Amino acid sequence: MGEIPIFYPLYLISVSSSAKISLILGGFNKKTSQSRYTVKRKEASILNICIVISAVIAGYFILHYLNVSETPQEETVIESVEPEYKYGFDKNAHHFEKHTLGFNQNLGDLLLYQGIAWDSILKLDQISSNVFSIRKFRAKKPITLVKENECEAPLCVIYEPNKFTFIKYFIKDKVKIDVVKRDYDIVIESAAGEITSSLWGAMQENGLGNDIIDKMEDAFASSVDFYHTQKGDKFKLIYERKYIDGKSVDTGEILAASYKNEQGEHHAVFYENENYEGFYDLEGHPALGKFLRAPLKNSRISSRYNLRRFHPIKKRTIPHLGTDYAAPIGTPIYAVGSGVIEVAGYTKNNGKYVKIRHDDVYKTQYLHMNRIAPGIKKGVRVKQGQKIGEVGKTGLATGPHVCFRFWKNGKQVNHLRLNFPPQDPLPADQLEDFFKKRDVLLNILNQVPYPNEEPNNTLAFNNP
Ligand SMILES: [Zn+2]
Repeated sequence: MGEIPIFYPLYLISVSSSAKISLILGGFNKKTSQSRYTVKRKEASILNICIVISAVIAGYFILHYLNVSETPQEETVIESVEPEYKYGFDKNAHHFEKHTLGFNQNLGDLLLYQGIAWDSILKLDQISSNVFSIRKFRAKKPITLVKENECEAPLCVIYEPNKFTFIKYFIKDKVKIDVVKRDYDIVIESAAGEITSSLWGAMQENGLGNDIIDKMEDAFASSVDFYHTQKGDKFKLIYERKYIDGKSVDTGEILAASYKNEQGEHHAVFYENENYEGFYDLEGHPALGKFLRAPLKNSRISSRYNLRRFHPIKKRTIPHLGTDYAAPIGTPIYAVGSGVIEVAGYTKNNGKYVKIRHDDVYKTQYLHMNRIAPGIKKGVRVKQGQKIGEVGKTGLATGPHVCFRFWKNGKQVNHLRLNFPPQDPLPADQLEDFFKKRDVLLNILNQVPYPNEEPNNTLAFNNP
């Protein structure tokens, strides 16, 4: 999160009112959601959320400007007699023990040692295979044993395959398994920054992880060239963050973002309905153009398309008909556009490589792969952004990179010089809904100032 002035309303929402807001935000959870609000998702629209947000904002400002403080309530201290729970067990009546398995150890070994009968272990092994097999427990990942008291055999084993789930393996009286999805809250947060060297650097300084950085790239895929950012470019965004018990566990979607550079200010909003999902510009054009700007994320260009390049291995002038993107071995390579695999093979110079036919005019080629992704074979259809392989240095390559070649009408061209037509906008019958949601998100984004600027409330929405 960026530095947000104290009066900044979103900050208020995410800190003070998270409980209330998150309940409503749950309604606009993603499909991957495991929160108890998931069911409500379809009914609750972003509009609802924002009505509440506006109410909170308005309330805050009214209080702030009228300088009215809430009437202090008489405080009554009530002794808490409610038991506290951990994994659903009364904390005061149970003993919790953390263990980890060694690399050559399995849960059976641990349970035998803890005094569990071999029969029960076999039964657990058997029934767990349909739920989450105890054989899939990873070494060094914590396991919690729940006991009624320290000296007894455990009555339950707890394993957490991820932050959003824990699994209870009961082993004492009846062997059974409960998978528990944790409730989480989604809070809208904001960030704003200024580029000093790269977008990634500036976003990382703001405490944003790779997931959000990748989404930022997607949001502006066809409007901003992040390989040529200028010092002083500015960005701001609002995005979802997931919390469990007040602790941030993950980020969700970017909901809206703006990027300001020499060319002007660019905007992206996230939109989804039954048929569409992704980033759109203000007119409803998908942010992803016909082709992605690069087949890698977070990479750098190590050698450009150049008809008079001196070849570092062959020691003579050989045109470089591609663009090289350097990245560590194993970095995913993505299809820049949808199409059909024409070649997935190996040659001495290209190493392992893939060639995709996008339409009658365009083809793309990706060389020197370490590995071609499973299922990528001649004749297979791929989607834009699909992983087709991993960066390597097979064939004629000095270091790990992907040599990316762009073919237009049978000739290799410099794709960085081409302007591609935008993808089709949302169909007319979707636009009304899109504009409604867009305006709500932009209203929130407008309240986030760029660094060293006042919030801008003047962004006009002109519907075509
Ligand atoms: Zn190359």
